Amino acid sequence: MPRAVVITGPSGVGKGTLIRSLRTRMPELQLSVSATTRRPRTGETQGVDYHFMTPEEFEQHVAAGDFVEHADYAGARYGTLRSELATRSAGGAPVVLEIEVQGARQVRATMPEAVQVFIAPPSLDALRARLVGRGTDAIEQVEARLRTAEQELAAQDEFARVVVNDRLEDAVEELVEIVRDTTATG
Ligand code: 5GP
Repeated sequence: MPRAVVITGPSGVGKGTLIRSLRTRMPELQLSVSATTRRPRTGETQGVDYHFMTPEEFEQHVAAGDFVEHADYAGARYGTLRSELATRSAGGAPVVLEIEVQGARQVRATMPEAVQVFIAPPSLDALRARLVGRGTDAIEQVEARLRTAEQELAAQDEFARVVVNDRLEDAVEELVEIVRDTTATG
């Protein structure tokens, strides 16, 4: 079983930015590239940001049992491929999974040794402002993501480790400490 660090929390909370900063501080960390059926956004690259696939391809992987976890989110499907975790962890470094809450629950059940961190926004208003401000999604998408975010925020009590992403540098510092303590990578 690879050492895994699950970073979860609502869309727009800044998981991606936090993970980029975390990897600057701990370059040995590997990032699991997820599969999704959503369309690539401008600037996203196949195999780098996601393994973009059709709903049919995704379903074939589900049927073949290829996913460690998978979930429906805001009208698309997302999942972590077992092969992806195996490849990324081959060198022995911890692998970071950036996934939403339903997926994190599945990982908790199947890989209980994985470290799970919930990233929380300072407030729902702050989250809304970020989702609108980043301008990557149409307004209906933002609304769908905010509705889901309210449910996701209610789930944060399930997580032993919660990092509030208010000031980025503080949140990164907390995350570095958690990952150092729990994966002992030095
Ligand atoms: P986005 O469309 O903004 O890239 O991602 C939407 C949500 O799906 C985010 O909360 C993101 O963390 C989550 N996500 C990305 N990859 C996966 C995955 O492999 N599994 C699950 N369960 N969620 C994922």
